[in-house]
Amino acid sequence: DQVLYVVATPIGNLADMVPRAIEVLQSADLVAAEDTRHSQRLFSHFSITTPLVAYHDHSDDKRTGELLAQLEGGRTIALISDAGTPLISDPGYRLVREARSRGIKVVPIPGACAFVAALSAAGLPSDRFSFEGFLPAKPGARANALQALAADPRTLVFYEAPHRVADTLDAMTEIFGAEREAVIARELTKAFETFHLAPLQELAAWVRADSNQQRGEIVLMVRGADVSQAGEVDAEAQRVMKLLMSELP
Ligand code: SAM
Repeated sequence: DQVLYVVATPIGNLADMVPRAIEVLQSADLVAAEDTRHSQRLFSHFSITTPLVAYHDHSDDKRTGELLAQLEGGRTIALISDAGTPLISDPGYRLVREARSRGIKVVPIPGACAFVAALSAAGLPSDRFSFEGFLPAKPGARANALQALAADPRTLVFYEAPHRVADTLDAMTEIFGAEREAVIARELTKAFETFHLAPLQELAAWVRADSNQQRGEIVLMVRGADVSQAGEVDAEAQRVMKLLMSELP
């Protein structure tokens, strides 16, 4: 009792539901869901009958307060989102934060997460990466966000809406350079799952040429800035500096 479970659900293929998630959702007193109608389908499929209540981060403080009061009264609540892991570009942060600050136990039930699945099979460096979530929708703000990432050596990972993916790839081509490698991962775990790796300019053209690539759910990944080149410039600058120093009186 007094446990808030944060439960991952599938990102397309229902067979990815983990057994512990089914058990926890079934035995919880209440399940807080982003969209109760959407989650009802998942519940029907797994014969889960626990009552569902709506929760999103812009839920007024009243709803957060109600859930916290239930937890403090000894109830077990499970938090889910429409798909994948809650709090990853999804609601839940406020509830988890508040629960922890009140000493309520918060337990994760790990499972699907779109960017982890994408990164694990993309073929880009995965030792260091930066998950950026969704870019701003407006072109100016998006360009600024990309500019701020242009020199980052880590693999960059983005969620993107299908109707914006072609424009975003064009903006990336302009800001990161035509030759920078990128991967589009689409419809993961579903019937039309696609991975395509190419230099940014080629990838942008490939996506523009086929409207099917502008459908469904999309993760974009971009190789980090090439720091070995920057390192060479530094080394050259140091060599010149040494030469100059030796010439100075
Ligand atoms: N919490 C989720 C997770 O753990 O991945 C992400 C929720 S976010 C609102 C939804 C975005 O995740 C989609 O727009 C898409 O960028 C990405 N996404 C979710 N499911 C996906 C899938 N099956 N294939 C590719 N991307 C997916």
